[in-house]
Amino acid sequence: MSLNPVICSKCFKPVLFLWCRDDSGLCESCVTAIPVSTLELYKLLVSPISNNGLWSVNPDIDFKDVRIFVEECLRPLKAKQYQNLLTSQSASIRGLVAVLETFLPPPRDLSDSVVAKQIADFDRKVFNIETELSASRKQFNLLRKASRRMSLNSKISALQKQMTNLEWQKHEFILGGYDEAATIRKHSVDRIKKDLSLFASGLLEMEEIRHTHRVHWELLKPTGDSWEELLRHYSRLERITNHRYDLQRLKILYDIRPISGQTIFMWERLHSRDMSCLYSNVVKSLH
Ligand SMILES: [Zn+2]
Repeated sequence: MSLNPVICSKCFKPVLFLWCRDDSGLCESCVTAIPVSTLELYKLLVSPISNNGLWSVNPDIDFKDVRIFVEECLRPLKAKQYQNLLTSQSASIRGLVAVLETFLPPPRDLSDSVVAKQIADFDRKVFNIETELSASRKQFNLLRKASRRMSLNSKISALQKQMTNLEWQKHEFILGGYDEAATIRKHSVDRIKKDLSLFASGLLEMEEIRHTHRVHWELLKPTGDSWEELLRHYSRLERITNHRYDLQRLKILYDIRPISGQTIFMWERLHSRDMSCLYSNVVKSLH
């Protein structure tokens, strides 16, 4: 479903969210007239419902509805669904992001003794693998026979993969054992938060005017083989978005060594959704 407008209790303007307190539901303009001392009693609710005059959370609203609305507020020139109902106020968008976060499972309580023990277990396993890796690498440097070096190299690769998996499992455990859908949501919220900080400083608007695109990226782990992790990520995306990725092309990109000062371009005519046509220096090899 898409979000339905609600009416401000004071000015009767149709809006998609209200600052609510009991029977008072105010739009972002009217709420500015509230004394600062009582402002914190108001809570931003998206397309709320009114029961016997009291405003409450609309249980039919889902993460996707709110995400699309927030993204359109951040990039109004690209808005398709809510053009006339967007907000440009950073404070309001921050409130909307807080609503998005209510759809994420709470992170684990790290002070809990059971949780702390499980994290210690992860750390112990990682330490053991690191110790074995270190010993294997030293042994590798001493070996001369090619067949034995090859065999040990396979063992080192397997250990690196084990370590990457353990680190990933620990990361997911700390996040609260997010399932696939929650992991994707968490990534969306993190991305939107980054956009919001750019929006607040006016940089996102400049990006829209110049018709450029910001690519969100993060460094792969400095140790271990991240390929398995990438595969898991794209497999998750495939299941959730029902979109198919060309993993073979992704592997080609993955195998390319980083180049200092690399410039990233995107060619609209290629209508590409994967990364393979983003890199100027690999376009020739891929097309
Ligand atoms: Zn109003």
